[in-house]
Amino acid sequence: MRDENCVFCKIIEGKIPSNTIYEDEEFKVILDISPASKGHALLLPKEHYADIYEIDEELLGRAMKLAKKLAIHMTEVLGCDGFNILQNNHEVAGQTVFHFHMHLIPRYQNAKNDDILMWNHESFTAEEFAEIRDALKL
Ligand code: 5GP
Ligand code: ZN
Repeated sequence: MRDENCVFCKIIEGKIPSNTIYEDEEFKVILDISPASKGHALLLPKEHYADIYEIDEELLGRAMKLAKKLAIHMTEVLGCDGFNILQNNHEVAGQTVFHFHMHLIPRYQNAKNDDILMWNHESFTAEEFAEIRDALKL
């Protein structure tokens, strides 16, 4: 399944070039064109799913296994000091390409932009936490 207007589907089909670091029947892993750090990569399932809500859960499990393999490999090769795995869903959460992907972001001590992924903290009262907890309990 592909979406003809999707930039990642075009990359997967080879219609748009990319710096590919890994490929198999189900996944392609490319360097992000606008990286947060040296080696920042995107793990793309070849099937088009818009986001976490749509993606097949077995495929997602295999994507996470591959992310671990790549995190180990990239850390060895790049000599990075840490690693973020990030996955955005919907515009409000920062998603700009609506084809499910996982960001693989190597992190370096003393990096110039070491405030990647920093957020301001919200605060809630104990009652509010309890209300949130009760609403979310599965
Ligand atoms: P999102 O914001 O949706 O989580 O992440 C989309 C990512 O895709 C961004 O980090 C952006 O730099 C990257 N991106 C967008 N277009 C292209 C492209 O044509 N090629 C590559 N390699 N990355 C892209
Ligand atoms: Zn797509």
